[in-house]
Amino acid sequence: MRSFVPDYDLIRARDVAHATALLKEGFRPIAGGTDLMVLFNAGKLPYRKVVSIRRLPELTGVVVSETSVAIGAAVTYTQIRRHEALNREFPLLCSAASWTGSLANQNRGTLGGNIVNASPAADSAPALLVYDADLEFVSAAGVRRLPYRDFHFAYKRMNMQEDELLHMIHLSRNHALSQQYIRKVGPRKAQAISKVVFAAGSEITGKVISDVRVAVGSVAPVPLRCYRTEQLLNGRRVSAPLIEQAAQTIAAEVQPITDIRSTESYRRMVVVNLLSEFLRTLE
Ligand SMILES: Cc1cc2nc3c(=O)[nH]c(=O)nc-3n(C[C@H](O)[C@H](O)[C@H](O)COP(=O)(O)OP(=O)(O)OC[C@H]3O[C@@H](n4cnc5c(N)ncnc54)[C@H](O)[C@@H]3O)c2cc1C
Repeated sequence: MRSFVPDYDLIRARDVAHATALLKEGFRPIAGGTDLMVLFNAGKLPYRKVVSIRRLPELTGVVVSETSVAIGAAVTYTQIRRHEALNREFPLLCSAASWTGSLANQNRGTLGGNIVNASPAADSAPALLVYDADLEFVSAAGVRRLPYRDFHFAYKRMNMQEDELLHMIHLSRNHALSQQYIRKVGPRKAQAISKVVFAAGSEITGKVISDVRVAVGSVAPVPLRCYRTEQLLNGRRVSAPLIEQAAQTIAAEVQPITDIRSTESYRRMVVVNLLSEFLRTLE
């Protein structure tokens, strides 16, 4: 059944303080609306009061400082794709932005919306995990910062209160990831929810791997950072036997399911193949 529009309240926030005051009164944020309006249209939105945060200047900019980049939660994929410093230093995030939905989605959809919607298949999540992103929340009670790796704790369950607004996503510019790799596997090149999205980064010195980070989407109830695989790889010399061992480790570490988009065995095989491909680029 479709929703009846006059049944809903929509207020456009004047500023962040106005938005957080409304959240305290039970309003929920809408940014680009590309996830939320799907629920609304289907009559499945579980609340009737929404506050638009899409045009708040505090949420729509990218600020580059000496040590980090702060991306406003309502920054769109198009802004990310076109941002020079992000392309230079955080190419995995820009690639993920470039293959999210269609161009229309990229013009409206925001990074903050992708994070808070909390789909395990979200395309930005593995890149954010590899870059060790930090999230900054704001509420009427103040500001809170949290490593993104601690945000999701079960399917669609997050370390976030209903009166909190995701304000910024912080990326450290001091990462030592000279090698970076990302792939999305889906049924087609655009408008496709991922069967698997895989991102990785590392440093390599004389074939010895260090600071390796491996993250995967669509293969567990939450976007997954593969710590066991990383532990196996760190400090080791890249070689065919190590790649084989890493393949077995990651195959055991992911927890894919069979659903409408793919099968458990296909997803596991793709993760193994992509990890092996990444490691071969280090040889
Ligand atoms: C046709 C189509 C194709 C798509 N393709 C892809 C794809 O390929 N890959 C992919 O990952 N996703 C895809 N999506 C999903 C969607 O576009 C993204 O998740 C997008 O980033 C959501 O951002 P938004 O600003 O539109 O969020 P909204 O729909 O506005 O909000 C989503 C949720 O986040 C909350 N929220 C938003 N911003 C904040 C904030 N700052 N603080 C607190 N809560 C907030 C909202 O309350 C809501 O619960 C697709 C969607 C559609 C309709």
